[in-house]
Amino acid sequence: MSTILFDKAVFGPVRSRRLGISLGINLLPPDGKVCSFDCLYCECGFNRRGAASALPTREEVAGQLESALARMAEAGERPDVITFAGNGEPTLHKCFAEIMRDTVGLRDKLAPGAKVCVLTNATRLGDPKVVDGLCLTDEAILKIDSGLESTVAALDRPAAGYSLDEVVERIYALRGRLGKALTIQTMFVSWTDDEGVEHDNSREEDVAPWLGILRRLAPPRLMIYTIDRETPLKTMAKTPPAVLDAIAVRAREIVPEVSVSY
Ligand code: SF4
Repeated sequence: MSTILFDKAVFGPVRSRRLGISLGINLLPPDGKVCSFDCLYCECGFNRRGAASALPTREEVAGQLESALARMAEAGERPDVITFAGNGEPTLHKCFAEIMRDTVGLRDKLAPGAKVCVLTNATRLGDPKVVDGLCLTDEAILKIDSGLESTVAALDRPAAGYSLDEVVERIYALRGRLGKALTIQTMFVSWTDDEGVEHDNSREEDVAPWLGILRRLAPPRLMIYTIDRETPLKTMAKTPPAVLDAIAVRAREIVPEVSVSY
């Protein structure tokens, strides 16, 4: 299986389906994914077993970002977005909030107009420091892959202690602070598990409670997408465009801005 792992703290720019020209920030080790989820579709592969290398320091991230933005400016380029993504869950870094502050400062100095976005699975919203960092972003893109906890457990494979209801309520409590920055992202896929059982999170039993979560959170923005690259689980399949479109029609009755990536 080929997986994508980033060997630097700052990578790209890359052209993202969902975000445009994106300069990426990877706060995780270069030699294996570290995440509080272990999604069956993760482009970085499954979580690293055993000890990982050290995480990049705050100073290393700021230094690499400053160099990358200066290089782009010299070439007459500017990223549409600086995206926290990379080899796992960015909010696991203990200096996430400080690095967010550095990043916003460097963006203001060297790439004004570029957005700062964070792709996160929302598992660390119980930490006030993480929340403070997240609230500095222009777009906090929070993952909710189903309205059914059993599907989240099967597909995203969260670390122990995860509760979908708790995550939804934490996002709800954050709505005022995030304002227009709040974006929900949902990956739709189908797959067959090791026991031969077929799963599909675009089925009504998943989508109906998921729409209920959208009603509760009333986010200004929603990103619906499906897999685009090789996945660690071989049986993983794309959700067809017509199914994504039909889900988007229903979501648009709740969310003002819904994008679909096929
Ligand atoms: S939350 Fe993101 S980084 Fe973590 S396992 Fe899922 S897709 Fe990979």
